[in-house]
Parts: sequence; C-alpha cells; structure tokens
Amino acid sequence: MKSARETINVAWFKRDLRLQDHAPLAAASGQSLPLLLLYVFEPELLDDEHYATRHWRFVSQSLADLDRQLEAFDVRIGVMHGNALDCLEALHRHYAIDTLFSHEEVGLRLTWERDRAVGRWCAAHGIEWREYPVGAVTRAKPDREDWDRHWDRVMRAPLQQPALGSTRFVELPAELRFEIPADWLAEDSLMQAGGESRALEVLQDFYRGRGQDYHRGISRPGQSRETCSRLSPYLAWGNLSLRQAYQELLRHWRRPGWRRALAALSSRLHWHCHFIQKFESEADMEFRPVNRGYADYPWREDAASETELQRWCDGNTGYPLVDACMRCLAATGYINFRMRAMLVSFVCHQLQIDWRRAAPHLARLFLDFEPGIHYSQVQMQAGVTGTNTIRIYNPLKQSLEQDPDGEFIRRWCPELAGLPTDLLHSPWKITALERQMYDLDYPPPVVDIESASRHARQHLWAWRKRPAVRAESARILATHVRPGSGRANGARRRNGFAARRRPGARPRGVMS
Ligand SMILES: Cc1cc2nc3c(=O)[nH]c(=O)nc-3n(C[C@H](O)[C@H](O)[C@H](O)COP(=O)(O)OP(=O)(O)OC[C@H]3O[C@@H](n4cnc5c(N)ncnc54)[C@H](O)[C@@H]3O)c2cc1C
Repeated sequence: MKSARETINVAWFKRDLRLQDHAPLAAASGQSLPLLLLYVFEPELLDDEHYATRHWRFVSQSLADLDRQLEAFDVRIGVMHGNALDCLEALHRHYAIDTLFSHEEVGLRLTWERDRAVGRWCAAHGIEWREYPVGAVTRAKPDREDWDRHWDRVMRAPLQQPALGSTRFVELPAELRFEIPADWLAEDSLMQAGGESRALEVLQDFYRGRGQDYHRGISRPGQSRETCSRLSPYLAWGNLSLRQAYQELLRHWRRPGWRRALAALSSRLHWHCHFIQKFESEADMEFRPVNRGYADYPWREDAASETELQRWCDGNTGYPLVDACMRCLAATGYINFRMRAMLVSFVCHQLQIDWRRAAPHLARLFLDFEPGIHYSQVQMQAGVTGTNTIRIYNPLKQSLEQDPDGEFIRRWCPELAGLPTDLLHSPWKITALERQMYDLDYPPPVVDIESASRHARQHLWAWRKRPAVRAESARILATHVRPGSGRANGARRRNGFAARRRPGARPRGVMS
C-alpha cells in the first residue's frame, strides 16, 4: 500500500549550527525532495555531567540566529526535545523520511551510541543516512599517513555552500515542536553569545587589529581575552567551520607585521583537527588513559581529596591565580590555554587527584567544550600520555610572570584587591597583624606547593620509565604522530626508540 505521508529529506543539525560551508546541508539542498531542517535537544545530553545551561543557551542563541537568516527562505529550524531516536520515529510517522543528512559527530560515548542506534533504525526503515566528515577528521583512520596533505586539501577546498534559494522546505508540525525556554535565549553579558553571525563578527574583529598581538598575549589570562581569536565556542558548536577560519587566515597571511601572530594561530588551527582525530581513533580516552601503562597510577582516593577537589572546583585553593582562573571560568566560560593547563596541573599533580574526577567540571565550565580536544588535553596535562613533556606548573611563578601587576587576580578575587602587589601573589606570607590590617578573608593554601610538586615530579618520572608505559608510548606514536615529524623523532628518542626521518617533513603544528 502506498504511504499517504509526504516524502521528505531531513538535515539534522548537531554541533554544526551554521548555514555556510555545511556539507550535509549543501548536499540536501540540491535534492528534488522537500527538506526539513532539524535540531534535537536530547535529555541524555542535557543531563550529562559535561554540560551545563551555558551550553544550551549558546545552542539556543545559535538556533535563533539560524532562524533569522532563514526568514528570507520562509522557513524555521524544526526544534524538538527528546531522545533522538524517539524524535526521528515521531517525525517519520508524520512524514516519510527518505534521506537523513548530517555531519559525523566525534563526541562522547553517549553520542556515539546514539548514532549507532540511529544507524540501525535508519537501516531498519529503509532510510539512507548520509554522514559527512567534520573538518579534516577521518573516521576509522588507523594512523597519520598523509595527514598533512589531507588536512591541507580539506582546508583549502572551496566552501560547501547550500543552494537554499532553490530548495523547497517543509516545517516541523506544531505538535512536535519544542519551544525554547526564554532563559536560554537571553544573553549573559560576561559570556560569548552563540550564532553564525556572531562568529563571523568575532572573526572579522580579530583581523581588524586585536589579533596582531596574538602571540604576545597568548599566555596571559587577562590580555589573551582580547588578543586570542576567541573562536573556540564558535568552532566547537559549528557556528564557523575550521575551513572558514583557516581560509580567512590565508587571506591575511602576507599582511605586514602579522606574520608571527598568524604562524602561531595557524599551528593551533592544525592542532584542532589533530586532537579530535586522536579522540576519534581512541574514543575510550573519555574513560581510560590513552597510555594503558598508567591504568593503575596511584591517584589519591582518601576522604580529604574530595574536600580538596571541591576547593579547586570552587576557586578556593588559597593560590590566587588558580582561584582567579577558576572563578573567571565559572563567570565567563573562558580562560586561555596556559591557565587551563595550570588548572589541570594543580588538581592532578599538586593535589594528586585523578583527571577523570576533574575533567567533567572543566567541561561544564568551558563554553567551548569539545570532547576531542578536551580529553586529549586533560590527559596530556595530567601526564598520562607517556609521549609528552611532563609539565608541572608552579602557580606562584605563573602568577608573577603572567599577571605581574595582579590586575587579573584583583578582578576575580576581590577579597585580595586591597593587598599590595607583592603580597597579592602569595597571601600565605601575610603576618597575623597584616591579616587584621587588610581584613583578609581568604583561605590558607590547600597544599604546600613545593613539596607536592617535588613528590609529583619524582612519581611521574618514575612511572614514565616503566616498561608498560614505554611500550604504550611506541603504539601511541605509531598511531597519532605523523611519521618522520620532528615531534615523532624527538619523542621516539626520549623513549629510547631509533628516530625515523623523512626528508622535508614539516614540523608545524604536530603534537601527540
Ligand atoms: C585542559 C585543557 C582543556 C581544553 N579543552 C578545550 C575544549 O574543550 N575545547 C576547545 O576548543 N579547546 C580546548 N582546549 C584548548 C585551548 O585552550 C582552547 O582551544 C583555546 O584556549 C581557545 O581560545 P581561542 O579560541 O581564543 O584560541 P586561539 O588560541 O585563538 O586558537 C584558535 C583555535 O585553535 C584551536 N586550538 C587552540 N589551541 C588549541 C590546542 N591546544 N589544542 C587544540 N586546538 C586548539 C581552537 O579551536 C581555537 O579556537 C583545552 C586546553 C587545555 C589545556
């Protein structure tokens, strides 16, 4: 019997909330069947420990921005709320779905399992699901052979622009539509607002002038907020494609006085896909150290570690820069790379707390939470890859170097604002009399930084020499590092392996 339902195609938006350079949308818009644009708020993700309201607000603002752009085509994004499979079922009862178009999602186990279920459901219902890679990330890639050339090819290819003007759209039936709560659409003046239009504004603004000091401000928690690109939430939620970001960089490449800034930014745009590729290949990094040799690493589990972890989460460790960074992150959703690394170093090395207990807290605070970058970076900074330099940051040294006049600390730890700058960096040195004089209400240090760092250093280096760690390091290098790169050779030498050299290999942008 012929179905009475109208046959349609569906473009399913996930972390790709834009209209430009959108391969699935470009493919779907060229079809003869009418097209429905879909976004699903999934309770499993809303409730997941990695996410907080700030993320759904950013998504909602992005959807509102898409709707504004789509007014010209007299259509809106169909927004649903529920388990993705249930939503697709409900939609398929109303319309007959012919083809589902989407990007591949390189995400948490939750989204991977959801996608497997959606794949089975599509197969069972005779629906074709066309998935498109995200950036240069390749599904099921066994190693990094040809990685650079592939990255270059993808990033320099023409943008995948949809032909929206010649597409016939259908809308989601009213009874299936989810009304986004007003609170999710409101802007928070301290946080970056979502949307493709905002992403393009931030990109243009970077090249208008503030980006020229990119490389100078990158490690400073205050200055970096202005001089870094601030593209991360837009890239993470797909308001902007990495290709758009890279092609804009190429347009400015020869600009006098910008060379060092753009070279530094170019490396980081390369790292973006590198880390997501790593996660794509080893998705259980969410749960286990990428280097299995660290499976039994003796993290603290005593009751006091819970209280100390809480003090770190709350920004009450007694180390002003650590606390200022955490409070700033909680209020604004952003802190620069160096300070993220310091926060992880503090909790994992100085407090000796398992990275798995800290990673979800940071994910909830990072507006730009991107599972592939996040878990790779957290493990790297926690020292459990076996292939990266072990870095134990001293928060006092960072404080003196990166916030010498204490401006950032004063902004985020107002209880310290009245202290003279020399005392601001190390308030534990204050005498009882001075404490009274400054009416200081700030906690004593949660740990003695010198002895804790010494202990961590000895421990980490001893573990690194273990045969199980070294054997795993070899496997990691073979899988995730471009053969013949300077990074691969250096790490191989440090781990006692013979260096392989490929003439002409470029060292740019490769980390493991
Ligand atoms: C523990 C830890 C967790 C992190 N978690 C995330 C995360 O969840 N999401 C995220 O986007 N970044 C993460 N980063 C990487 C980095 O800190 C941020 O990308 C950067 O600070 C964002 O600011 P920006 O956009 O101004 O970056 P810029 O310095 O202007 O760089 C431009 C873009 O390059 C990419 N990029 C920059 N640095 C890195 C890097 N080290 N590795 C991979 N890609 C990079 C980002 O997409 C960034 O938006 C993490 C770093 C650490 C140490």
